[in-house]
Amino acid sequence: MKKFHILTIFPEFFEGFANTGIVSKAVKKGLVYLNTVNLRDYTTDKHRTVDDVVYGGGPGMLLKPEPIFRAYEEISKEKKPYVLITEPWGRRFDQKFAQELSEKDEIMIICGRYEGVDERVKAIVDQEVSIGDFVLSGGEPAALVIMDAVIRLIPGVVGDEDSLRVDSFSDGLVGYPNYTRPPVFNGMEVPQILRSGNHKLIELWRRWKQIENTYKKRPDLLKKADLSEKDKKILHYIKKGKKFEDFISDNKV
Ligand code: SAH
Repeated sequence: MKKFHILTIFPEFFEGFANTGIVSKAVKKGLVYLNTVNLRDYTTDKHRTVDDVVYGGGPGMLLKPEPIFRAYEEISKEKKPYVLITEPWGRRFDQKFAQELSEKDEIMIICGRYEGVDERVKAIVDQEVSIGDFVLSGGEPAALVIMDAVIRLIPGVVGDEDSLRVDSFSDGLVGYPNYTRPPVFNGMEVPQILRSGNHKLIELWRRWKQIENTYKKRPDLLKKADLSEKDKKILHYIKKGKKFEDFISDNKV
């Protein structure tokens, strides 16, 4: 079972998340344990203070270090977790990072608020993590994004594991387009190949679309993608502006 310990001043933020869809199922199956830790429970003063003013002046408040250390120490008594802190300048979260995290048994995520967190907290942090170059009002939405991406990689969580294999980014490319019924909607038709029942051809078409979409929408990904000789040939055709049909007839598929 994978455990997440989320240190936050807003534990209620995670209620909808824990009770919805795949995550809720994973929790019920005992594959995931979400431990939302209210930092106020680790304060010692009567006002349960979690924040304080910034040394040296400047606007806003900071999360105090003591409640965070106390919560960490209690969690670590059982097992030392891998510790993340949400920071706008942290390591950019992506599918590779999610895969790495899916291999850790226990992950603790410290959610910053206000102007952030007292720097001394970094003494217990293994990795700072960011979900993008923008500023959120707190680390909670980032923690939620991270947990969602990691949880669906845990074996047994997503019903059909093939769907993980074909996900975007799993092989460095974006996904291929999908259609469901009806076959014609508002004059727009589902591509004939997908209704042909020719599985080899469908597989080739999907690969073509993945490479085409990556080339058109995320060319930056192509540099690092794991392309076979056949993929490279497809890319060559796409770059020359040729059609899937040309590829098929030229290569006698
Ligand atoms: N003063 C900070 C911004 C604080 S925002 C600065 O100069 O950058 C408050 C908290 O929200 C942060 O401590 C962090 O925990 C979280 N946060 C904001 N943007 C984030 C992002 N892009 N990714 C992850 N966490 C973020």
